Amino acid sequence: MTAQGPDDPPAGPAPAEERVPAATAEAGRGEEDASARGRVKTQRWLSKRAARLEAELQALAGDIYRHLHGGDPRGLSEPRSFQLTLPLEPKPAGAEPAPLFAQLKAQTREWDMQAKGYAPGRVYCHRCASHACAHAVPPSAGTVFSGYSPTGVPQWADLVQVLLAARNERVDLLYDERPATVAMFIPGRELKSQLLHTFGRASKTYDILGQVVCGYFRPPADSAERLALTIQVVEWRGAFGSFQLDLNLIGPDPEDAAPYLAGQERLRRALERARRKVADIERRVQPADPAAPRNLTPLREVPQVIRGLVQDLERQGRQGVRRTVHAEERGTQQRPVHMAIEDLHRAGPDQFFFDEHRRTIVVLGSRHRAHAFTPEGRHATSFSLDPAAVDRRVRRGRWRVATEEERGGLLKAVAEQR
Ligand SMILES: [Zn+2]
Repeated sequence: MTAQGPDDPPAGPAPAEERVPAATAEAGRGEEDASARGRVKTQRWLSKRAARLEAELQALAGDIYRHLHGGDPRGLSEPRSFQLTLPLEPKPAGAEPAPLFAQLKAQTREWDMQAKGYAPGRVYCHRCASHACAHAVPPSAGTVFSGYSPTGVPQWADLVQVLLAARNERVDLLYDERPATVAMFIPGRELKSQLLHTFGRASKTYDILGQVVCGYFRPPADSAERLALTIQVVEWRGAFGSFQLDLNLIGPDPEDAAPYLAGQERLRRALERARRKVADIERRVQPADPAAPRNLTPLREVPQVIRGLVQDLERQGRQGVRRTVHAEERGTQQRPVHMAIEDLHRAGPDQFFFDEHRRTIVVLGSRHRAHAFTPEGRHATSFSLDPAAVDRRVRRGRWRVATEEERGGLLKAVAEQR
């Protein structure tokens, strides 16, 4: 594209309506009035050209949306806009923007996601008003959705951290020699407790009613990362404001997740059961006749459905194969070692116990946290434990207060490792 000033007549033959009006040629003659009139006419001529291009661009974007993404521009619930970057001659140095077609294609794809109000495998990002941004998917296989930031950005955290923060009693099972699947229900209002109203807290265009976080699923042979899943019940509005309810499985791309989930027959069945129940609630809320009033009462069953899913998932039992020492060590790196070391240094002598069963030294931290270390100073696991459970373990003789020697030995060994 070449830039043209109002004083340059267009070069070459042009359609009559695009030819510079005669007044423009008189513009430089010095007479104030004629010059002002000329500028007005030139502006009118240029803005007409811009309007034609604008209409053509809008039509082009609509056609791309319709033909490439299968969308209907008239079905969009709110106005859409796009931003284009077109370099002018001389082109600026540096990275060249994508061709116009590629830019429109990418941006109209996003229209589609917004129009759907919902995207399988993704969490809606209120800040970017999109499912397509990087915030919408877990950053790594072991992370789950932990709620929204005040400005609506999805937050992700390691499953074990989320379980520890919630003082989940079963977190310990993740580190057993034969680890079990641990699942936990998180109500929607907890996920949105930080979210501000202006960033979609009360939105029904997209609303997470509740979720399950669960894991870990064993890594395939070629990966070191364990998989955790977030499973949400999402209420959203489809075309013409129709009520929609879906079970959304959030995790890595289906292709990446497949090797983890191969053979997880119980998981697949649990998901299927929950999906059927969710579809049933959806049907009862929104009768087939769109003119009939919506009945929101069945929505009260959603927490029950999610709790049922938690039970189904935990019934999966222990994972059949013992983890190798290698896997054990890989897991260690992902544990909240930092917090464990902090608690270790703050703990008094009466907060150290020796676990006779596992031959580890357990340190009690604040907020019911507990951390197990090997006598050699390696952090083995962290879990949450209420005082009653500590008493029980001591009474049963599984734990005893650690000796001065054991405590000193541990502190020394940890210090030497760091
Ligand atoms: Zn975002």
